Amino acid sequence: MSERPKRVLIVGLGGLGCPVAAILARASSAELWLCDDDEVDLTNLHRQILYRDADVGTHKLDAARKTLILGGVDPSRLVSHRARLLPDNARQLVSEVDVVVEGADNFATKFLAADAARLVGRPIVHGAAVRFVGTAWAVAAQGAPCYRCLFEDVPPGAQQGCTEAGVMGPVVGLCGALMADLTLRVLQGDATAFGSLYTYDGQTDRLRQVPATRRSDCPLCGSAPSIRDLAESRYTNPSCAA
Ligand SMILES: [Zn+2]
Repeated sequence: MSERPKRVLIVGLGGLGCPVAAILARASSAELWLCDDDEVDLTNLHRQILYRDADVGTHKLDAARKTLILGGVDPSRLVSHRARLLPDNARQLVSEVDVVVEGADNFATKFLAADAARLVGRPIVHGAAVRFVGTAWAVAAQGAPCYRCLFEDVPPGAQQGCTEAGVMGPVVGLCGALMADLTLRVLQGDATAFGSLYTYDGQTDRLRQVPATRRSDCPLCGSAPSIRDLAESRYTNPSCAA
């Protein structure tokens, strides 16, 4: 019996998810599970490269799917989930894929994806971009160091997402390409993909690779973790504190 294709869940089809999907569609044979509930907005077109002006107002999933198929991707490789990642669907969705790619634009979804990946035991690639700075890193299936090792609480300035603070389109594209590269390495079983935080500063053109460190008191992957489920209350507070 032939093995099923690898499955990659892409959470968020915005400025990060678009380049990730475009690259993985052509550079891998993985199924792409696309998760978003949003519509294409004119003001985001400069960084959301799967969409055209004519797509404004239509659902991102439909527009992304159309562009990927026009580019030659077999429709059978694209699985659409027209929903937000939420506490009541996250565990199921994450458990059905091999790798999670999180390019969400809000901290509630980022923490939820991180927690679900850790609890279910899946590797996850995180990405974020605000103004001139983008970050990307991969967390192994066993989950340490994890997202909460670095961002246990809201980092300074975190109330501003890219929507409020603005973001340079090319920085987002570069960050998405880094995320796609990490995902390909994870799919290939490359253990060196894990453990480093990549940051790119578009004002200085500096790309840095910083070791991510596990915190023994991390609430998710520490020696006595307090997060053992996806309780809804943990993700409804905008501050997303653990
Ligand atoms: Zn941790």
